[in-house]
Formats: sequence, C-alpha cells, structure tokens
Amino acid sequence: MEVRQYNTQERPDFLVKSTQGVVLTAALMLTPFTINNLIQGRYLLGAFTLLILTLCFTSAWFCHRGHYHFKINLFGITPAIIIAIVTAVHQLGVAGSYWATLGVIAFYFILPPKPAAVANFIFIAIIFPTAWGALEPAIAVRFFAVLLGISFFIFFSISEIYKQHYLLKSQAITDNLTGLNNRSLLQSSLENAISQSHRSNTPMAILILDIDNFKMINDQFGHDVGDKVLRESGSLLAKSFRSSDTVFRIGGEEFLVLIYNTDKANAFIVAEEFRQEYEQLSLIDGHTVTISIGVSSLQSDMNWEQWMKQSDKNMYFAKNKGRNQVIA
Ligand code: GH3
Ligand code: MG
Ligand code: MG
Repeated sequence: MEVRQYNTQERPDFLVKSTQGVVLTAALMLTPFTINNLIQGRYLLGAFTLLILTLCFTSAWFCHRGHYHFKINLFGITPAIIIAIVTAVHQLGVAGSYWATLGVIAFYFILPPKPAAVANFIFIAIIFPTAWGALEPAIAVRFFAVLLGISFFIFFSISEIYKQHYLLKSQAITDNLTGLNNRSLLQSSLENAISQSHRSNTPMAILILDIDNFKMINDQFGHDVGDKVLRESGSLLAKSFRSSDTVFRIGGEEFLVLIYNTDKANAFIVAEEFRQEYEQLSLIDGHTVTISIGVSSLQSDMNWEQWMKQSDKNMYFAKNKGRNQVIA
C-alpha cells in the first residue's frame, strides 16, 4: 500500500479566499471607470470593463459559496483582463499602462502558480508590442522590465507558499513514527468506501490489528525498542497491502487497514497471511512479537462507526482467545 499523500490537485482553501478578495476589489475599482468610459463614449473599453465586472461578480459568487471556479478565472477573467488592459494601453498610453501591474499581480491570486505564470507570459508578450507603439521607447522598456520583475518575484514567493501548504497538509495526515496515515482522514476514508460500495456493489473489509503484549515489550526491552517495533510493523503493513488499500495507525500499537473490493473470506485469508508473516519477522532478538487481528466486512446497513466497532470486537475476541490469531 502507498502512504497517502495530500493531493496537490486539490485547490488550497486560501485560493478561494484570495480569489474572492481580488475579484471583489477589482469589481469595486472598475465600477467608476466603467461608468466613466461609457459616459466619455469609450464604448469598446466600457464594454470590456463591464464584461470583467460580470465575470468578477460571478466568480465572487462561487467563492462566497465556497467553490473555486478555475475555468471562469482562467478562460473568463484572465483573457478579459488581458484584452481590457491591452486596449487601455493602446487607447490611453501611459495612463492606461498603470493597470498592467495590477493585472500581473491579480493573475497570481486568482490562479494556481503555473497557469498564472503562463497567463502572465502571454499577457506580457501581447502587451509589449502595444506598449512599444503607444509609449516612448524609454518608458516602454521600463514598463516591460517592471512587469517581468513583478511576475518573477510573485511566482517564486507564491510557489513557496503552495509548497509549504501541501507539506503542512501532508504532515497533518501522516503519523510521524511510522509514516502511515494517522486518524485524521479515517472517518472520511471509511465513508467514501461505504458510498463506493453502495454505488458499485463491491465488497469492502477492514482489519484492526493490535500488537500483543506491547506494554511488556516496552517494559522489558525499553521504549526505544518499542518504537522500533512500531516502525517496522508500519513498514511491513505498508509493503504487504495493495496500493488501493489504505493503512492507518489509529492508536499506540493499533492499526487499521481498509481493503477495497474484498469479501469477508478473502479478507480473512489476507489477514491470516499477514499474521503469519508478522510472526516470522525477527523484530526483537530472541523474542517473537505477535499481532491479533479483527476482520469485519461491510454490511449494507452499517455506518462507519458500526463497521469499525465490529472489527474492534473481533480483535478483542482474538485477544480473549489467546492472542496471535485472526477473528472474522
Ligand atoms: P494486548 O496484548 O492486550 O494488546 O496488551 P498490550 O500490552 O499490547 O496493550 P496495552 O493497551 O496494555 O498497552 C499498549 C502500550 O503501548 C501502552 C503504551 O505505553 C504503549 N505505546 C503507545 N504508543 C507508543 C509509542 O508511540 N511508542 C512506544 N514505545 N510505546 C507506545
Ligand atoms: Mg496491544
Ligand atoms: Mg491496544
């Protein structure tokens, strides 16, 4: 099984908030200019700014509902901003060029870093020839350099913020000692498995595994040896299951394996194989470490807690029957 990594395709929460802030600010700032453009008879520019206003309010509405709408931002707001600012530079010269810096910055706060960098590259490539025609050469060159500089500075710093965000998210779901998943995604993983089982009628099972007499291991061999046993147990668990299965450390010396597409009989076989393999590991010189396992297959009327409880009950049953065994 693979240790679950935080999915970097998931948009970070802060992108929803930053998009909302940027698009609302942009809409408020653009409103008087839109009215002015229309009053002054600059209908083309007025129409574009009106279009941006509409897109900004739509995107803000999605953000308000907690959704980040990538397509509106990338295919709606971004090209509209590019066209409006290029038109502004073309028609107003230096006065229009001031908007370009805001455009460069805005892309990084409404798009993830890579699409934002591409949008900026396209923006700067389009605006430079326009600026070259509309501004004095000395100003046009500086205008180009400032836009590039701002784009690079923000790209590097914001990429680092994203990296740190995903690292923290990964750390929050990972158990330090074993590298397995900790409990934080346990409930949602079990609930997802239950929904999937209902949708596609596939059998699902969980194993709860508890190392036998672990307190005695700590007492007899020391806490360091106890930790080593936990780490190596974690490695064996990670190696022994399929990549579609998920392994959690749910307590001190307790683990849970969520096994997809496996019925009770097969889950029992898998658990029994693991138990035997575990017993053969020489985790401590001259001492055999064993594990007790409770298996429970998902029944159609179970919620995640009942499913886990059943597995826990079977694990305690295995303890009561003398440990080092599997009960399904
Ligand atoms: P049983 O066979 O009935 O499961 O007995 P047990 O001794 O394994 O169970 P018990 O719940 O009595 O003891 C579990 C011990 O696990 C107690 C606790 O100090 C120890 N423990 C919990 N977390 C860690 C850890 O991170 N490292 C170490 N070394 N020990 C831990
Ligand atoms: Mg134990
Ligand atoms: Mg225990």
